[in-house]
Amino acid sequence: ALERDDLTGLYRSGRLIDAIARDLAAEHYGGALLYLDVDEFKQVNDRCGHAAGDEVIIALARLLQKHARSSDTACRFGGEEFVVLMRCKNEVDAGHALERLRKSTENHLFPQVGHITISIGFSEVRTGDTPSGAFERADKAVYHAKASGRNRVCSHAALVVEGILVEQATNMGDVELF
Ligand code: GH3
Ligand code: MG
Ligand code: MG
Repeated sequence: ALERDDLTGLYRSGRLIDAIARDLAAEHYGGALLYLDVDEFKQVNDRCGHAAGDEVIIALARLLQKHARSSDTACRFGGEEFVVLMRCKNEVDAGHALERLRKSTENHLFPQVGHITISIGFSEVRTGDTPSGAFERADKAVYHAKASGRNRVCSHAALVVEGILVEQATNMGDVELF
């Protein structure tokens, strides 16, 4: 059985994402991988306490599941980081869905804590990707979302078009993630 995260009930294993990414690439089935990181979460803990921070993680996982489709796979990837494989027709649709998630998070009132924001990086899963290819691109995109002010959704492909990121050959730099 796949391991679940005690706090949120989401999948814990990154392996699952990896496996599905492989399937998607092989089947030409549309999907995007997103990397979500809560903004300034250390401050939430400092200001409101660790238990309140935990409540934010739980509530955010619920918000994530509310926005996800049944075919999507959401994992808690670390403390306040989530990775989701979402089925979608294309990059534009994925961007719109994630923008809705970003906005509803921003507008959500978290008990004890108030408002928080999230940064999201995403990339389509491509035919011929290495298993970690989409993950690495999403990670670079979220890094840019942080560096450019947080509370943003950044598409890797859009950042490449803008000349902010450089496209890597899909089979280069394949690191062992899990
Ligand atoms: P940034 O916007 O750059 O992401 O700022 P940040 O403060 O969120 O920075 P970072 O990602 O480095 O810090 C995440 C913090 O999340 C560190 C740790 O104290 C806290 N954290 C990690 N896991 C948990 C958890 O399970 N519960 C709670 N309450 N806090 C956690
Ligand atoms: Mg983090
Ligand atoms: Mg953070």
